[in-house]
Amino acid sequence: MRMPEIVLKPGEELEGFVVRAAAPLPGLQAVAYEIEHAGTGARLLHVHSADAENLFAIAFKTPPADDTGVPHILEHSVLAGSAKFPVKDPFVEMLKMSMATFINAMTYGDKTVYPVSSNVRQDFYNLAEVYCDAVFHPTLAPETFKQEGHHLEFLRKGDRASELIVKGIVYNEMKGAYSSAEGLLARYCEQGLFPDTLYGKDSGGDPHCIPDLSYPDFKRFHRALYHPSNAYIFIYGDIPTREHLAFLRDKLGAFKRRKIKAEIQRQPRWSEPRCRCEAYPIGRNEPTGEKAYLTLHWLVGDGADALDVMGWSILDYILLGNEAAPLKKALIDSKLGADLSFSGFNSGQLETTFHLGLKGGEAGRQEAFLKLVLETLQKIADGGITPEMVAAAFQQAAYHNLEIQPLYPLRLMMRSYATWLYGADPLSLLRAGELLAELRRRYEAEPALFGRLIRERLLDNPHRLLLVLAPDRELQAKQEAEFAGRMEKQKSRLDHRALAKIVKEQEKLEELQSRPNSPEALATLPQLKVQDLPPRPKHIPTTVEKLDGKVDLLRNDVFANGVNYLELDINLEGLPDELYAYLPLYGDCIRKMGAAGLNYLQVAERVAANTGGIGFGSAIGTHAAEPRRCLRRARFTLKTLDEKIAPALDILRDLFFEPDFRDTARLKDVLLQAKAWHRSSLVERGVELATLHASRGLSAEAALAEALGGAPQMRLIGKLAGQYGLLQPDLAAKLEAIRAFIRNRKRLTASFTGSNSAYEEVRRRLGAWVKELNADAIQDQPSSFKPLEAPLREGLAAPANVAFCTQVLPAPHRSHPDAPLLQVAGRMLSLGYIWDEVRIKGGAYGGGCGYDGSRRAWYFFSYRDPWINRTLQIFDGLTTHVRQAEWTQAEIDRAIIGTAKNGERPIRPSEATGQALWRHVAGETIEFRERQHTAILCATPREIKRAMLEQLEANSSGSSVCVFASREKLENANKENAEAPLAVQDLTLEQS
Ligand SMILES: [Zn+2]
Repeated sequence: MRMPEIVLKPGEELEGFVVRAAAPLPGLQAVAYEIEHAGTGARLLHVHSADAENLFAIAFKTPPADDTGVPHILEHSVLAGSAKFPVKDPFVEMLKMSMATFINAMTYGDKTVYPVSSNVRQDFYNLAEVYCDAVFHPTLAPETFKQEGHHLEFLRKGDRASELIVKGIVYNEMKGAYSSAEGLLARYCEQGLFPDTLYGKDSGGDPHCIPDLSYPDFKRFHRALYHPSNAYIFIYGDIPTREHLAFLRDKLGAFKRRKIKAEIQRQPRWSEPRCRCEAYPIGRNEPTGEKAYLTLHWLVGDGADALDVMGWSILDYILLGNEAAPLKKALIDSKLGADLSFSGFNSGQLETTFHLGLKGGEAGRQEAFLKLVLETLQKIADGGITPEMVAAAFQQAAYHNLEIQPLYPLRLMMRSYATWLYGADPLSLLRAGELLAELRRRYEAEPALFGRLIRERLLDNPHRLLLVLAPDRELQAKQEAEFAGRMEKQKSRLDHRALAKIVKEQEKLEELQSRPNSPEALATLPQLKVQDLPPRPKHIPTTVEKLDGKVDLLRNDVFANGVNYLELDINLEGLPDELYAYLPLYGDCIRKMGAAGLNYLQVAERVAANTGGIGFGSAIGTHAAEPRRCLRRARFTLKTLDEKIAPALDILRDLFFEPDFRDTARLKDVLLQAKAWHRSSLVERGVELATLHASRGLSAEAALAEALGGAPQMRLIGKLAGQYGLLQPDLAAKLEAIRAFIRNRKRLTASFTGSNSAYEEVRRRLGAWVKELNADAIQDQPSSFKPLEAPLREGLAAPANVAFCTQVLPAPHRSHPDAPLLQVAGRMLSLGYIWDEVRIKGGAYGGGCGYDGSRRAWYFFSYRDPWINRTLQIFDGLTTHVRQAEWTQAEIDRAIIGTAKNGERPIRPSEATGQALWRHVAGETIEFRERQHTAILCATPREIKRAMLEQLEANSSGSSVCVFASREKLENANKENAEAPLAVQDLTLEQS
């Protein structure tokens, strides 16, 4: 990429703005302008580069005064209609019909950010226009507050005898967030470390406090803070600065400068460390052993001090960055827990923090944990940091600085806001290369620098919190009973008239939610036309070379800024079915065990010193043109800098050819860490687990996908960990069998993105490896898969106070001529019928549907949902909905634009390496992609309806259902719906 020239001078005035500073950012191939709006003091930063992905973001400081979640509810609500765009949900309308590469909004502890980005210039300004009007002139109707925030309803609509419940999208989103142990841990930690400042409040909203927020307070919060004098506008990309200023001129022109009260205070420092014990809910019948979280937290520094932030990032990596890092190793070796949790340095706010945690421990062992941490830190500070460790840490930071990752503009925005909002230079963290060089100079002048940091900020720092989170079997039921009691009490205080009012308001809200936007209102939104879209999707420029062992080596011509990416694809066809379930563990071993005569610590040190990471994963799908051709693949991934390519390839070779599973003690640790991960990620993965479970009868691929990542995988890990002594020999034999199986050159395809010199090295090395591999013919293995005789209705019971409902239908393969139409239909229903019914009316945090032509399935889901039967009925009502729908071409066009944008996404080097490889092995040729793209652009309402109905009528009777929720919730749902109950099973890692 070429760097633009500086064209604006400090002091220059244009369009009502004054240029304050202009500076080159050579590390980003960009120049930056700091600009102020003269009338209001609104601050603007434009990072001008040659990148066609332009980003516009506006942020406000939004310090919360309590836990009612007002910043978060406001974040949802301003996007629900504004003066210029009086539709119900401009956000979702733009989501439907823009080419946005990113569109969302985020609430942080102290700020709220509204970013959008696009590759298409007109689209970029359309999005920025809608966002500016949303933040400065939102409608904020009382109904929006009720829908997004909270309101009262009767459990059974209109039935005043039924229970009173609280509904609201943010309310359910936060109930879900408070369901996971790690979510609670984050909450208690912030509350504990910052008891006297806004960081101790929950800007997202504590579900217990959300109902206390009043509509007038909500409006007042907006009036006070959403003003240009409190705005920080970040713009990135290749559009010239002047055009942005001309665009913003009248957006800000109507406002007068105002004094904003949004100070972010510092936490008074403690003179003594503190301690706190809290509980989190687990299943009624689950054992409590090995489920506690033992954690330590420190307030360590100043977020606006970029050099200090960078120093801590380096120290973080030295202490915890790899399997051999001394603090990580000591924590794992202590057996006080199975794996780290919630650990590392945290910045991006006024005061920075450092965290250490172990999951899978025992409550009551916190003193031993504290002693271990302090003693280990002391040892490390007293000479435990070698120059090699520091060099490896600097190298890791360099990746962070150089890499052009997906969502690159958004990452730059976050780095800028991290200092800017606290009065510091917005460019300081964007100059990471210079910061690292300065830090290196300081380290060379003071080799004990990091030891001193440990002593001063951790060991001798009394602002330290010891926090224990213990499992509690009764808590879920207790909280539910408490809530029911509270609601009953509230109901008893309401008279006849007040109860009638709730019914009326509920009806009114639903009536509003059901009323579609008028075509006139929709026409106010700026929209692209289908003719404006590029006629062809973007392709990755890839060339293919055959190595002499007949292995394809792909080279992708994508700018990679000095980082090199290599992926090795392995065809798993013929791998015995029972070995698939061991692939995830095989991947863990690649990342965590020894190889080629080196133990795991030596391997970890080599990986840290020479690469940006080595990974191993697997994927299941089908060929683009041949529905019967199953694609079962494994993948090695490697990232490295130019000067490290040779040693990096040496390590990859060792891990590919000679991984070593013989260290049985280490293998057990790896297994326990996998178990701890499954436990802690359980609730977050609710939709995924339920979908995999409901799909497993559809095809051999779907069954394998569940074996790899679903409930059976969890149970396998639980069993292996529980009976390790007995099962270890068999486990080692299975891992060995996978190792032997993949060492076959006929299975290998490679893909590379990076520099010429690195490519030559890759070519040479791969050519040599190919000669070492065997060349056995690939043989098909008869599959043990048996299709289901009848569709399933099932429930997976786990401790979660919200539900995740899924339904899966068989669908045609992506080579079917209707496949592009079904993609458009999926997008339309996802943001239409399902969004309206499940999210808007149902109050679930999310919901959607999608067509997956590779797996031959239709998926419907709800996310953090208060309902079960209601949502399943919505899924069942789809055929009727489609039959009655009278879509216009304008509606279809919006969905076409939203679908076609996938082909326009920016091509970033790491994604390109993997995607090019998948397209190559899956037969997604340029012609195939262009054919699909053209078919998407030509979709008509009639054709979409026909394709949908054909599928629904043929396949609805074959749909399977699975709901992930607490046992209590599932059993209650079954009581309400006795004719078609869900077969409930507990989802647990324990052995019964
Ligand atoms: Zn939210």
